[in-house]
Amino acid sequence: MMMNKIRRVGAIAALMLAMALSLAARDGLKGKHIYVNPGHGGWTINDRPLATINHAAGDTTGFFETSASLWKSLELAQRLRDAGAKVTMSRTKNGYVADGDPKRTPNDRTETYSDADGQPQLVTLAKIAEHVEKLKPDYFISLHSNAATEGKLTNYQCIFYRGEYGAEYSKGSQARAELATVYLHDNPLTVWTDTIAGKHYVTGDLTWYGVKPEKAKASALGYKGYLAVLKHSAPGFLVESSFHTYHPERHRLLNRDYCRLEGLRCYRAIRDYFSGEKDKLGHIAGLVKSATDTIDNKLFKFVPGSFDRWLPINGATVTLCDRHGKARVVKHTDDEYNGFFAFFDVKPGRYIIRIEAPGYKTLEHEVTVKADEITYMKMQVRPKKR
Ligand SMILES: [Zn+2]
Repeated sequence: MMMNKIRRVGAIAALMLAMALSLAARDGLKGKHIYVNPGHGGWTINDRPLATINHAAGDTTGFFETSASLWKSLELAQRLRDAGAKVTMSRTKNGYVADGDPKRTPNDRTETYSDADGQPQLVTLAKIAEHVEKLKPDYFISLHSNAATEGKLTNYQCIFYRGEYGAEYSKGSQARAELATVYLHDNPLTVWTDTIAGKHYVTGDLTWYGVKPEKAKASALGYKGYLAVLKHSAPGFLVESSFHTYHPERHRLLNRDYCRLEGLRCYRAIRDYFSGEKDKLGHIAGLVKSATDTIDNKLFKFVPGSFDRWLPINGATVTLCDRHGKARVVKHTDDEYNGFFAFFDVKPGRYIIRIEAPGYKTLEHEVTVKADEITYMKMQVRPKKR
């Protein structure tokens, strides 16, 4: 009897604990304030205009870090809001420069900020830092892509928080960054390259740029560090997701859905940091390439032997079918030499992906979608007999 009672009390306590935990989990992002900073913002020479096969450098529909950063950020912001978080974005549009920017183009407007309308279009790093400092968000994230010399076969990811490796200057930044890299590295559709022995790719900005702490300059707000946009007290980091100087990756960054995928990864990192509830839906992302032909273009220098060598199939029709082969959603790969496709927010289950491209044999592949996971596919199509 006594035993029974103890057992029951234990069971009730366990149940209450489980309920409390699940409540806490459900509340993960509710009421949390996330500040999202899409890197860059204008159409100037400083906003990394670079040529791709279809676009000359400077074409605003071609590659600019400005647009890739915004696409990633808008996706992240939307998912955070859907999960109940409060989100502030430093900008929501492209084509803003600082007042008096000598590099300004006719397509650029002057950055704006007013408390009244609530949505700033800020690009000056010190102004963004000031804005962050005023709002004191729970999490700060700045989204960028990285640069080496043009066409270099370098593509890795790095994340910087303010301060030194192992000695963050805004408490909680390193933990946020270290969890984020687990999610952000989950991109098998790109080709990751080097790792430098003993080098930390998640580190303090002073450490990465080799600045001694005593030489670190304090901002007008009084915060020391290296990257101006991190000179505030909010915990968080800047992520250089991949290298836009690596040609195949630059082309992929022209694809909005490819950028959305990065926004989704950032969302998962932030959500899990706050123990938010897992998603009930899953996602599929993949590439369609030729199984026989490689790409040969001076604007598409790839890592030898990597998957990037295969000719990407432009304009392929990619159909998400149920497991009986009935078409559900139809997408097309872009015309930018990516062969990239994605289906977001798909119910878990078994599906068939059908690939059709003129001149190639139709390819069907079974795929399983799992809740809260991204299923990646690398598909290669064979030419029809000529
Ligand atoms: Zn950047």
